[in-house]
Amino acid sequence: MQFKVNFVTMLDLNASVLVIYTGGTIGMIEDADTGALKAYDIKHIKEYVPELQRLKFNIDSYQFDLPIDSSNMNPEQWKKIVWVIEDNYDKYDGFVILHGTDTMAYSASALSFMLENIDKPVILTGSQLPIGKIRTDGKENLITALEIAVDKDPYGKAFVTEVCIFFQNLLMRGNRTTKVNANNFKAFNSLNFPVLAEAGTNICYRHELIHKPLPNRRPKFHYLLDPNVAIIKLFPGISPQILSSMVATPGLKGIVLETYGAGNAPGEKWFLDIIETAVNSGIVVLNVTQCASGSVNMTRYETGRSLYNIGVISGYDITTEAAVTKLMFLFGHGLERKEVKRFMKVSVAGETTI
Ligand code: ASP
Repeated sequence: MQFKVNFVTMLDLNASVLVIYTGGTIGMIEDADTGALKAYDIKHIKEYVPELQRLKFNIDSYQFDLPIDSSNMNPEQWKKIVWVIEDNYDKYDGFVILHGTDTMAYSASALSFMLENIDKPVILTGSQLPIGKIRTDGKENLITALEIAVDKDPYGKAFVTEVCIFFQNLLMRGNRTTKVNANNFKAFNSLNFPVLAEAGTNICYRHELIHKPLPNRRPKFHYLLDPNVAIIKLFPGISPQILSSMVATPGLKGIVLETYGAGNAPGEKWFLDIIETAVNSGIVVLNVTQCASGSVNMTRYETGRSLYNIGVISGYDITTEAAVTKLMFLFGHGLERKEVKRFMKVSVAGETTI
């Protein structure tokens, strides 16, 4: 992989970052008496990360009323994050969102659609060990995320102009990430798209890969999401009763069908009949692979072609996290099924390679 060393970083002493603290392990310290993990007030973060005082730019913070474990993250919380960013957009050079790791890839994906045409960095980060633990990975993740949030070229333009996750030295496009490890400090990966920067002794950006906003257009902040979508993961032995009751859920508009390999599914008649009935009833069924990397190709095998023939559309190399949030976003905007299908076949925020 080829990285360019960023020699032209401008340190803007007037730069300002807003840290939005939603919760998660990074916001936890150990109670000295009981050893239990508890959330702290983000205003006191410099007590736990004294290194922040040495950063030569301003850091403000915004804390959710009740910091949450990211297992409790949901579309309402995403709207709140977007609202905080919109409300403060002109005041800050960049935004760092502290978030639990468990659903961070979903949030990063959702935000990549909700924050259109941004010309500033929005970096999600977190940690596997609480910030108050001596071996925490949180300090390094936070400090480098903050540095990336203010990194600019000599003309004052931000290097990063999209929603990203920074974790364990890697800056990744948010809607390409997946949590891959529950324990390891290298918790995230971007398996179908190269990383956007790597932090070593320098932060080396791959500028050519970073999404560029359209010039002379303000960012657009979106708040409409429709949660009437489902993820159905196939497994050998899935029963007709379970599958048919899932697809018959009232109000269901879109299904992310996690298939095998290059987009393959059982060729049995009962299975294809259930999926075809769903498609004919107006549900958008998107074929994504259960594999950690690679792309769906529905014409490679007969078992994939059968899905194609009944109207299932290809998700190509999109992650499940990006697929489900993209469906929420498109249906949220009241798009007709035909339009949703059209947008699922193109890249809206760099989430898929067609
Ligand atoms: N359960 C935590 C969360 O996602 C884990 C973490 O932060 O790493 O909020």
